[in-house]
Amino acid sequence: MRQIIAGNWKMNGKFTDIAPYASALSSTPSPAQLIVCPPFPLLPGFAAALKDSGAELGAQDCHANGSGAHTGDVCAALLAESGASYVILGHSERRADHGETNADVAAKVLAALAAGLIPIVCVGESEAERDAGEAEAVVRQQLTHSLPPAFKGLIAYEPIWAIGTGRTPSEADVTAMHAAIRAVLIAQFPETGAATPILYGGSVTPGNAASLLALPEVGGALVGGASLNAADFLAIAASAPVS
Ligand code: PEP
Repeated sequence: MRQIIAGNWKMNGKFTDIAPYASALSSTPSPAQLIVCPPFPLLPGFAAALKDSGAELGAQDCHANGSGAHTGDVCAALLAESGASYVILGHSERRADHGETNADVAAKVLAALAAGLIPIVCVGESEAERDAGEAEAVVRQQLTHSLPPAFKGLIAYEPIWAIGTGRTPSEADVTAMHAAIRAVLIAQFPETGAATPILYGGSVTPGNAASLLALPEVGGALVGGASLNAADFLAIAASAPVS
């Protein structure tokens, strides 16, 4: 199975970035499946520009409802119509900035699936939780409560303290956490849990991607800062092992 390298642009990017970025992705073959997750307004432009590239598009959030009085929110069906095939859900920045709970994430997963989007559900512990020896328990709890029985999609393990900090967990800690996540997925989803891709996210760069992507049960990466530069994003993808 090809690894998946997803770029989370967060609240960055301009309309003028679309053409050069899409052109770089279109002209560079990648061993990994690329997914670009720009801010909502850039989705249709990216969809047109990436049409023949093999790269896919994702959004960064969706509302749990299909329509209604939810000022500022966007429903999953409109994201799909805008060109997204994936949607990031439960990112720690949304959990922190918008108070999203595991139950909120589970409701959004159902909305995404109903609209035909593939959810990328983020989990990860804070630094205090890791220091207290609670990292695996926290992540297990997030998985149990953020994934509804109908879940199909991807998981991204993103330790909060590694996001945007230039710090990454040790290889042993990534391996242990991904094994723990795999065990939960198999227990919770006996039919699909063994094959659900588990991405690692948190300060992935062209310099550390090869060693992180080679670890057991790492099925790819969710990349923030380094995804804004097409050359760096492609260099990370080029590090993905081919199996
Ligand atoms: C992210 O926020 O999803 C992320 C992984 O960010 P960064 O790569 O910048 O740490």
